[in-house]
Amino acid sequence: MTPSSKALHSSSSLIDIHVHLYENKELGNNAKTSYEIWEYGEDPNVEFATVSGDLEDLSNTYNKGGFDRAIIVHLFDTALARAEARGRLSFEQTSGDISKANLDLDLAVGEAMIASNEWIANLGQTNPLIEVMVTVDPTVLTPKDLASHLSNLADKGIKGIKLHPVSQGYVPSDPRLAAIYDVCTNAGMIVLSHSGPGHHGGASARPSEFASVLDQWPNLHLVLAHLGGAAWREAEDLAQAYPQVVFDLSEIIEWEGAPNAPSRKKLSTLIKNIGSDRVMLGSDFPWYDPTRTVDKVMSLPGLGSDELAAILGGNAVNLLGLD
Ligand SMILES: [Zn+2]
Repeated sequence: MTPSSKALHSSSSLIDIHVHLYENKELGNNAKTSYEIWEYGEDPNVEFATVSGDLEDLSNTYNKGGFDRAIIVHLFDTALARAEARGRLSFEQTSGDISKANLDLDLAVGEAMIASNEWIANLGQTNPLIEVMVTVDPTVLTPKDLASHLSNLADKGIKGIKLHPVSQGYVPSDPRLAAIYDVCTNAGMIVLSHSGPGHHGGASARPSEFASVLDQWPNLHLVLAHLGGAAWREAEDLAQAYPQVVFDLSEIIEWEGAPNAPSRKKLSTLIKNIGSDRVMLGSDFPWYDPTRTVDKVMSLPGLGSDELAAILGGNAVNLLGLD
């Protein structure tokens, strides 16, 4: 961290709105190696963090970096959970009655997602460094079961939910999400979604695809991660049409200058055009080092100290209602 960024932080909050946490180092390492970041093209300047992403790594990194909060945007790897559940169900069970076996499999994956959310929500209640947005995959539970799961977790002080349409295989306007958008709107919970193009013709979550969601749920607190990712050119139009949508800078800030990412200068212009009160610091820890991310934000050209203070923490304080 540069001396100037330290001086700025001493008078304002430093909050990372896009953080992942894993129950142990092995799970963190598995997640990092199995998640392919393809959309920006090749960029030899990208630096990945070496930590695994368990609680020890998170506490060390964020305490040392002087962060006030790390917001966990929890991600459930449905494909991995399905493979694990398939391994647990014995051959006898699966060979006899295929439809029952599939039902058992769905049930096991649903239970795994619920357990994963309860783990992170409980941690959020006891650890003052972290706030939690739980994972929601509408392909795993019925809309009714998901809505009641979320209502139960609301009592544990969760701040919202994380969606990953691209990796979980649905579009932002999927009808199975309607009940979730209803619950989040009514409870004032935030929906933070991955945004970016689809891979190999799979589900995509480009900024423009959120327009219909914002039409139908105008009071939804929606955060689009990665400022649109490799579909960043759509972010400004969406932002102008829907003043309620806000963004995080995770990933795209590390990839600035890559073939399908904006240059540092273009990224600054994009932030200024959208409004520095609508863009937040995000690191995507443990993929990237959050202190390096702060430095990259600090070195964006043309942003004043008030604008930087808003991006590095002030906007997140307001959005999440933090003290
Ligand atoms: Zn992420």
